Amino acid sequence: MSASSAPLAIQMHAGDNVAIIANDGGLPANTVLPSGLVLRDKVPQGHKVALLDIAQGQAILRYNVPVGYAKQDIAGGSWVHERLLDIPAARELQDLPMASVVQPQWEPLQGFTFEGFVNADGSVGTRNLLAITTTVQCVAGVVSVAVERIRKELLPHYPNVDGVVGLEHTYGCGVAIDAPGAEIPIRTLRNISLNPNFGGEVMVVSLGCEKLQPDRLLPAGSFPIQDLREPDAALDTVCLQHDSHVGFVSMIDDIVARAKPHLERLNARRRQTVPASALVVGVQCGGSDAFSGVTANPAVGYMADLLVRAGATILFSENTEVRDAVEQLTSRAATPAVAQRIIDELGWYDQYLDRGRADRTANTTPGNKAGGLSNIAEKAMGSIIKSGSAAISHVLSPGNKLKSDQKGLVFAATPASDFICGTLQLAAGMNLHVFTTGRGTPYGLAECPVVKVATRTDLATRWHDLMDMNAGRIADGQITIEEAGWELFHLLLDVASGRKTWAEKWKLHNALVLFNPAPIT
Ligand code: CA
Repeated sequence: MSASSAPLAIQMHAGDNVAIIANDGGLPANTVLPSGLVLRDKVPQGHKVALLDIAQGQAILRYNVPVGYAKQDIAGGSWVHERLLDIPAARELQDLPMASVVQPQWEPLQGFTFEGFVNADGSVGTRNLLAITTTVQCVAGVVSVAVERIRKELLPHYPNVDGVVGLEHTYGCGVAIDAPGAEIPIRTLRNISLNPNFGGEVMVVSLGCEKLQPDRLLPAGSFPIQDLREPDAALDTVCLQHDSHVGFVSMIDDIVARAKPHLERLNARRRQTVPASALVVGVQCGGSDAFSGVTANPAVGYMADLLVRAGATILFSENTEVRDAVEQLTSRAATPAVAQRIIDELGWYDQYLDRGRADRTANTTPGNKAGGLSNIAEKAMGSIIKSGSAAISHVLSPGNKLKSDQKGLVFAATPASDFICGTLQLAAGMNLHVFTTGRGTPYGLAECPVVKVATRTDLATRWHDLMDMNAGRIADGQITIEEAGWELFHLLLDVASGRKTWAEKWKLHNALVLFNPAPIT
């Protein structure tokens, strides 16, 4: 049965008093649903219909959780749009359930492998990239010219190297570099330079007079992969203001020449069979709609549980999208100490939003609302499903890097902004990225493959050469959430082994965007 044929309303939980209309284009008034309910209004696709009469002040239940309170009486069969709802109050960060959920007892998943690039510190890359770290935005233009020359002139001689990436950003000078909070962008840049997809080859381009000096960005001993190989290696830095550079071309020549030994070492590497436990998968969503929490995100959640069973690491993030479901997180923490770390991170973020005179209603976009998501409470319930059902084993502060023994489900606290979340997950050590979208976004990263999952068949069909998987088939009744989760799990192993994503084929690269809570000067 296809979504566009028979009327289809999806109820997430038996206790819900609303369901989501699945049909393409929505359904007109007077349509009779399979339950016999008659629609009083035209209801757009992805939007909610009242399954019974709801009195003013009563909770609107989706996922058996209040996503709002009725501002007026709502008759069964009515379109329940955002203007009819009051948003539920934010959950206080006190008296939360701490590590109260009994942890699932799962059979370990064994025997699943992929072909990856093993690094000296035991981490594994899914791509073999030369990354050029920059200390300051001033050098970005020069680095991009040099990267283009390396791509054209050098890469054809190093066929085992997948590409060269300039780690460009807007930080480095004109910033209050000693202010509280400045450590976040600095450690983010440091840890991105050490991402497993770069093979431990650290190479830096600096201007010379900037606040973020190379030895502050990467102090001696902070690049462990390279240290293991060459314990006495100095940081390989090209300084544009150095006296030896006479003119622009000499700068470019210098960067290109310095890249060669790195490329030679990277080129000598080969993919090896490694267990699936070497995967560090960052999950996030962007351009969400009401189907995100029905199709793509539950499939990602099932896949996340499979990866945890296989011994891998899952990073889930997006503070403002989990804040309204905080008690789900604290109760699922593996220990009370992990639960407290979740509270500390979200409490810090509440204060950060307060300082900017923003609150949680700042999340949800016009597109979210047009897609049927009334408010952040509803969006949060659909977003958090991406984390599956495993116990939360660790919590990472923004910009910090996972330690090698930090496996399982990890809450990496980040803003929900797609670019900042992706950037911080790269710093955490992500070697593969899963991105779900309902409204549609052509998101991609140069540093790491991004597997995009569409929430609706309509989007997957129109964007057939941008979406890597169509989870809309769940709403169409073609596959189950479990089948979609397994399909995604196998797709991830293929992509980790070198199969290109659509974003890689088209070379779609969004900018790195640093999270800088400190002042600009
Ligand atoms: Ca996001």
